[in-house]
Amino acid sequence: MTTEQRAEIICNTTGPWDSKTLGGSWKRGIVNPDLEEERKNLSFDTDELQKFFYTEPMFNFIKEMNELCAKHPELYEGLLHKYELTREEIFDLHWKRIHRLMELKPEIFLGHDYKKFWYIWSNYFADVAHPVAQHQLMFCACIDFLGSEEQKAEWFEPARRMNMVGCYAQTELGHGSFVPGIETTATLDMKTDEFIIHTPHVKAAKYWPGQMAMGTHAILFARVIVDENDYGVWPFMVQLRSLEDHMPLPGIEIGDVGAKLGFNMIDNGYGIFTHVRIPRTNLLSRFV
Ligand SMILES: Cc1cc2nc3c(=O)[nH]c(=O)nc-3n(C[C@H](O)[C@H](O)[C@H](O)COP(=O)(O)OP(=O)(O)OC[C@H]3O[C@@H](n4cnc5c(N)ncnc54)[C@H](O)[C@@H]3O)c2cc1C
Repeated sequence: MTTEQRAEIICNTTGPWDSKTLGGSWKRGIVNPDLEEERKNLSFDTDELQKFFYTEPMFNFIKEMNELCAKHPELYEGLLHKYELTREEIFDLHWKRIHRLMELKPEIFLGHDYKKFWYIWSNYFADVAHPVAQHQLMFCACIDFLGSEEQKAEWFEPARRMNMVGCYAQTELGHGSFVPGIETTATLDMKTDEFIIHTPHVKAAKYWPGQMAMGTHAILFARVIVDENDYGVWPFMVQLRSLEDHMPLPGIEIGDVGAKLGFNMIDNGYGIFTHVRIPRTNLLSRFV
């Protein structure tokens, strides 16, 4: 490549240093000719390598997603300025992208293929994570894998359609890796056929779950107490917010843990429960 050609590429791809023109060669669809030349000389078929690496069905899915993004730049273009956005703007951007993807490809959201979800979220939603990663990959998966057939019939599709958005609420301030030490209680009231979810002290506050600050539901892990006997830690479906006005339900205090070093498009939250009653049938019961 001549010096003039190189200079032209640099001018075309970088431009003046202001936020509107950042994005460089990717934004303008320019590929460095040296790179293009090298790619022509490859001694192997890149499609075959991808099929080997991802498997053929995944390879086809990736191709489909790439074509979709090429046709619909609104799925990715806001990302060019992600480091210049406020936290609220980041949430807004990612929610709009997810909403658009749902409009364009609703079938992806309804399936049970968690590998595809992982691929979409990590490759198309960038930053490794996005505002409903835990909802799709943990909350929906818990219903799918831990729920009884009746529970799946009731919750799986509304969850997949995001009519309910949920978190996976296991970690507590005092108990992360040590899951058997979880202290949130679920005490059975036999008279009303309900469990009472309660945070006995601040160390038992749920802390960290993604989607706990803004979500409507939680798969919440708590110790089952029946007649003062402790039956260990089990998962429960707990509604956090009203589906009418999105306010937290009585007895539930939830919020965001605040800005973090990364993952700021995720609402990692905290939750404190004061004698919150849920139906007994909200214990996820595939393995009961
Ligand atoms: C960004 C982010 C998102 C998260 N999202 C969720 C979520 O959606 N839902 C949720 O429930 N939780 C979530 N968590 C919490 C996460 O699952 C916990 O942080 C994790 O389980 C570790 O718990 P801990 O932070 O209390 O650390 P600890 O359990 O206190 O561990 C601290 C250190 O001690 C070590 N350690 C612990 N136990 C042992 C042992 N027995 N032997 C040797 N070493 C040990 C650990 O390896 C670690 O280095 C999230 C955390 C982060 C940072």
